[in-house]
Amino acid sequence: MILLDGAAVAQRIRERVRGQAAELVREGITPFLRVLLVGENPASMSYVSSKTRSAEEAGMGAETVRLPASASPDELLAEVARANADGSVHGILVQLPLPKSHDTSRVLDAIDPRKDVDGFHPENVGRLQQGRTRFAPCTPAGVIELLDAYEVPLSGRRAVVLGRSDIVGKPMAALLLARDATVTICHSKTQDLAAVCREADVLVAAIGRPGFVTRDYVRPGAAVVDVGINRLTSLDEAPEGLRRSDRVRRAIAEKGRILVGDVDFDEVSGVAGFLTPVPGGVGPLTVAMLLSNTVKAARLISE
Ligand code: NAP
Repeated sequence: MILLDGAAVAQRIRERVRGQAAELVREGITPFLRVLLVGENPASMSYVSSKTRSAEEAGMGAETVRLPASASPDELLAEVARANADGSVHGILVQLPLPKSHDTSRVLDAIDPRKDVDGFHPENVGRLQQGRTRFAPCTPAGVIELLDAYEVPLSGRRAVVLGRSDIVGKPMAALLLARDATVTICHSKTQDLAAVCREADVLVAAIGRPGFVTRDYVRPGAAVVDVGINRLTSLDEAPEGLRRSDRVRRAIAEKGRILVGDVDFDEVSGVAGFLTPVPGGVGPLTVAMLLSNTVKAARLISE
């Protein structure tokens, strides 16, 4: 089994982006990312600081505009409008999930599609579906970069995407289709799920269920990409397979927590041909692709 080292691939993308950013700076344009963060969700705060720090490390400008959890929908929409109108801002990212008082679609629809570096605006979603991609959503775009880095063939191969969210599953399927894979999308109503997944040469799991994908879901030699990020704080939250894992037991006993993916790593590593670890797989690529999209936005706006 070959480990798909997302951290190493992400590092190479960041170096490429640093070069592109430096070129723009020489032309008098400093690519600039503005993140809008509502409330104090600890995971969101940590993601946001990693995004802005990485942007700065890549030679870009970045800032976070923080709104209190009590901010009204109109206040958030006003911040989006301000970022749209600000010529020095090239990329706008609204950190999700938003508190329940906000209509996420309304907020994403309000972002200038030329600054929509997350690729969630309907115009960019439509462009992706039509094969006229402007900004592909960062996580699935990172998965494609990872598979390409390891020369995993896609054209003509069977790809199964487990999960159909707007953020991961659907754009992942569109990107695989654009690369001429034969794509199946599975979700919570799919029947004979394990049998469908076993058909995959490339299996992408994005469901948010710890250790859900066991060896029964994987064709021998398949490339398995684990997008899931699940935090376990006790063995009671783990499915049977993970409860048997020494790695999981030790982490929970020693640190009281562990991050695991949607794939039972210990089991699936015995059957897959390629597999991502969690953490260190898809996660670092998401941030790298955000930087890549931000440089692209700055380039597009400058032209
Ligand atoms: P989501 O919006 O909750 O969507 C989950 C999808 O999985 C849904 O389509 C759901 O089906 C399907 N699903 C749930 N349980 C299932 C089951 N038992 N069998 C089959 N399908 C099932 O999640 P998301 O935003 O796509 O995120 C998925 C995971 O990826 C999460 O762990 C998240 O933390 C992680 N993630 C990681 C990154 C990264 O950078 N690595 C980025 C984004 C997300 P229905 O549509 O039928 O409900």
